Amino acid sequence: MTTKTVPDNDALLDAPEHVLSTLEKDGSRRWLRPRLSTGFWWHKRRVVAYILMVIFVAIPHLSINGKPLVLLDIAARQFTIFGRTFLPTDTLLLALLILTVFVSIVLVTAIAGRVWCGWACPQTVYMEFLFRPIDRLFEGTKGKGGKPRHAVSGALQVARFAVYFVLCAFLAHTFLAYFVGVDRLSEWVRRSPIEHPMPFLVMVFTVGLMLFDFMFFREQLCLIACPYGRFQSVMLDEQSMVVAYDHVRGEPRKKGKHLEGENVGDCVDCNQCVVVCPTGIDIRKGLQMECINCTQCIDACDSVMEKVGSPTGLIRYSSQDSIAGKVRRMFRARTIVYPLILLGLMSGLVFAISTKSGFDARIIRQPGSPFTMLPSLEVVNQFRMRLVNRTDQEQTYSITAAPELGLGIEVMDEDKMTLVPGKSVLVPINITFDSRLTRGSGRKEVAITINDGGENERDVEFFLLGPS
Ligand code: SF4
Ligand code: SF4
Repeated sequence: MTTKTVPDNDALLDAPEHVLSTLEKDGSRRWLRPRLSTGFWWHKRRVVAYILMVIFVAIPHLSINGKPLVLLDIAARQFTIFGRTFLPTDTLLLALLILTVFVSIVLVTAIAGRVWCGWACPQTVYMEFLFRPIDRLFEGTKGKGGKPRHAVSGALQVARFAVYFVLCAFLAHTFLAYFVGVDRLSEWVRRSPIEHPMPFLVMVFTVGLMLFDFMFFREQLCLIACPYGRFQSVMLDEQSMVVAYDHVRGEPRKKGKHLEGENVGDCVDCNQCVVVCPTGIDIRKGLQMECINCTQCIDACDSVMEKVGSPTGLIRYSSQDSIAGKVRRMFRARTIVYPLILLGLMSGLVFAISTKSGFDARIIRQPGSPFTMLPSLEVVNQFRMRLVNRTDQEQTYSITAAPELGLGIEVMDEDKMTLVPGKSVLVPINITFDSRLTRGSGRKEVAITINDGGENERDVEFFLLGPS
């Protein structure tokens, strides 16, 4: 992690400063070792970060009514969220859920800026409150941060890698538990990798990815890979709350002690807000995509302001309009429209969940001839019935129809009428009826009743085709 010097090459244009916050003039990586400012906001963020770490580790072990709190079983195409299982057929529910999450993010960003990035994103939480403290421990800069005074010895580098490896392995196992469940995961861990090579490779890949991210990629994930920061410009407006430098109060900046009556701003150009920044930017240049709203520059500047006897808050949570002296408006187009959309989506979601019965049933007409005439002058229509068992028990389904219709319902494979939890099946059925039923129009709207042997029952409507 050494910083390269600019090569002596005339063909290279000499950039006036860092091209990007993490790029040297010669295009090499600028490794950041931010100093630590343990102020008001850092203490609050640390509490939140540790709570979130505990929650992240605990969730795969928690269950509601015997079902996991969260299990995203991609292989079985079942998603259990808060103890409720969503199946692949729940496209409407899943679409509503995804839209609700998306609009919530947009709304929170419009009001409170990138509060997610600075306070709750796992990348920030683990990088700033787990892995960076470990770096500082091994580099001898514990509690302070910044560049180490001496190069870290080879033995310490190895020890640090070992600690990273153990932590990344633990986090990777926890992460995978969200997708396979703790029971299956513990079975994988106990068995030899030769017996289950694919899960083992998935695990190796996940651990490798985490090591790559936390040891090497680091802030690049926020700057290069994460799309959220790039959408910031469309999600924020001048009224959104962000971490902002008060340029009205701070400029013109002047290094060192400010004399009485001197026409300068409060910024003493100490650069503390820059050296603490985990993405290496200067907040005084205005709102930037790289700013993850981590509040480290607020804490650093507040401590400088206290030392020089000026009021704190030169860098603070504020809006661009407030800094410019304009009135703060809580109600504006996006803070009215987004909540209304969110309300609509959430109402739809609650309604869709509460009206879901214990099973899904749909009648699909078999392709081919629309009907068959029997010598008895009865008509036969062929269908397939899609059944989905949404309960947690095995269910055996039965079909009935109103007696006045005189329908003969023949299930071609009775075994398929018994379904284990979460499974779906196509059952071929033939329906025989008197040809007089379709007389006139050649079709007849009918309904059959399907019962799961318990409290769940539903009517399924479809139409019969016959001679007119
Ligand atoms: S500018 Fe301030 S709030 Fe933004 S990332 Fe840097 S230190 Fe954090
Ligand atoms: S920490 Fe505050 S005073 Fe120091 S350079 Fe940054 S804004 Fe100016």
